[in-house]
Amino acid sequence: MLSLDDLIREAEVAHGHLCAGQVLGVRLAMLGLERLGIDDPRGKDRKRLVTFVEIDRCATDAIGVVTGCRLGKRALKFRDWGKMAATFVDLQSGKAIRVAAKESSKKLAREMHPEIENKNQQQMLAYREMKNDDLFSTQWVKVELPPEEFPGYKGERIVCAECGEGINFHREVERDGRVLCRACAGEGYYDPL
Ligand SMILES: [Zn+2]
Ligand SMILES: [Zn+2]
Repeated sequence: MLSLDDLIREAEVAHGHLCAGQVLGVRLAMLGLERLGIDDPRGKDRKRLVTFVEIDRCATDAIGVVTGCRLGKRALKFRDWGKMAATFVDLQSGKAIRVAAKESSKKLAREMHPEIENKNQQQMLAYREMKNDDLFSTQWVKVELPPEEFPGYKGERIVCAECGEGINFHREVERDGRVLCRACAGEGYYDPL
């Protein structure tokens, strides 16, 4: 595993700027991987890991950098829960650990560095220095991963009976005996104009 400093530098490049979220995300992912005993997630262990992230903020990019898990590789799963947390699943051992940033860490950052007025600067420094136990809570969990959730899953492609668009990974739904995509089934996030 690369050092904290090296990974923060890489995260800064990938994310476009250095921020407290990068430091937090790098440390969160490092802790998860360390607990799982995965030390080369982007090299020899690259097919071993699936990561669930629960927020789409700065830290999410850093978690992607450290783990090598990408949406396009199906190794990064997004659950939009608005929580600064991620779960790391070791496909080899079946073990999984959820790491969540503690709400108290912001207050602790203020106490550690009251001399720094800028919140981002203050948290950036404090999150580097803070002990894991002050920054995060961890929990061993079980994650059910059906075959179609695995990164290399090859399955048949279904065509929506309404719009004719193709659907992968069993994302189709059945409505009144018809096989539909989620949009045609009424779960769309857009309305046609
Ligand atoms: Zn940022
Ligand atoms: Zn459709």
